[in-house]
Amino acid sequence: MAGGGLTRNRKQTPMNVPLLDLKRQYQTIKDEINEAIAEVVESQGFRLGPKVAAFEGEIAGYSGAKRAVGVASGTDAILLALMAVGVGRDDEVITTPYTFFATAGAVARVGAVPVFVDIDPKTYNIDPSKIEAAITEKTKAIMPVHLYGQCADMDLIMEVANRRGIAVVEDAAQAVGAEYKGRRAGSFGQAGCFSFFPSKNLGGYGDGGMIATDSDELADLLVSLREHGQTEAYHHWTIGTNSRLDALQAAVLSVKLRHLDAWSDGRSANADYYGSRFEGTPVTAPWREEWSRHIYNQYIIRVQNRDALLAHLREEGIGCAIYYPMPLHLQECFRTLGYAEGDMPEAEKAARETLSIPVFSLLTNEEMAHVADTILEFVGGA
Ligand SMILES: *Cc1c(COP(=O)(O)O)cnc(C)c1O
Repeated sequence: MAGGGLTRNRKQTPMNVPLLDLKRQYQTIKDEINEAIAEVVESQGFRLGPKVAAFEGEIAGYSGAKRAVGVASGTDAILLALMAVGVGRDDEVITTPYTFFATAGAVARVGAVPVFVDIDPKTYNIDPSKIEAAITEKTKAIMPVHLYGQCADMDLIMEVANRRGIAVVEDAAQAVGAEYKGRRAGSFGQAGCFSFFPSKNLGGYGDGGMIATDSDELADLLVSLREHGQTEAYHHWTIGTNSRLDALQAAVLSVKLRHLDAWSDGRSANADYYGSRFEGTPVTAPWREEWSRHIYNQYIIRVQNRDALLAHLREEGIGCAIYYPMPLHLQECFRTLGYAEGDMPEAEKAARETLSIPVFSLLTNEEMAHVADTILEFVGGA
């Protein structure tokens, strides 16, 4: 009868939890941000200038590098860093197949060949013990990626690179402020590359990137490469590209950098909460190395029935995503490199079993509990 509808299978109002909610972040820094943007607009100085120079100095200081050069994106940071360290046609660059496409895409764009080395299944970063076997006389650089915000094992990587006379370019796009044995991501190799894509931990209001380096020579070269290889206007000694960091982005990012450590601490506290909920359940929480300051650009869980869990969480309104569903050695554009399924078993397994769940610092306790409850009910670990 009519009244039955009130009690029949009445589900509670679903609680939607976004994977990332940058509107919440903006609400907390709105005045500072709007003021910084207004200053640039009032000045009508959009190309390089004081905001970019200031932010370059701030990132150099924050990362523990001598210099930093702002460019148009994280992808360009990697591309220009590779060019600056002299990677070119037919050179080989050793890297991980389990990363965002730009890592290997940039290698191919400079005419070099990405050589993939499988990952450590615990950290998802390149397995340093497998690097040396991949070195040939063509190897010009090693590019570790500090995936999800945790540094790769840099002592082992720098040891083999230095011993064999090979450059190291760090893809630190997900790792601004991450630490390895007290030292910051981006300060280990010849160059460290950052991305300020909006969803990164330090995200702009558009694209942006930066290269950190201890070498003045390399920094000067990058300054030239980002403006078509000029040192003096309209005089081009080499061929670069147009890849500057916008003054507007630098203004936004300088404001956000002041809050970054608090946001990173918030992510870390949220990760600790999930870690305590997932302990002893079928959900594998991220492994944090003892020496690591992990900044949790992503909080990645590993489960056997990943695709079913993903579908369930989406149905429940919980934001989640797969980073990354297909390792790079199996991408169509790299077919000519000759890799086959089974060549990088750990990367392939991670691509099947991992899932990113909400971890941003402004999640409420209620939201986190709901995310953990929903996952554990589904996998049978509640
Ligand atoms: C985001 C990202 C990049 C590329 O940065 P963009 O700013 O998007 O060009 C490169 N490598 C990794 C690992 C990334 O996560």
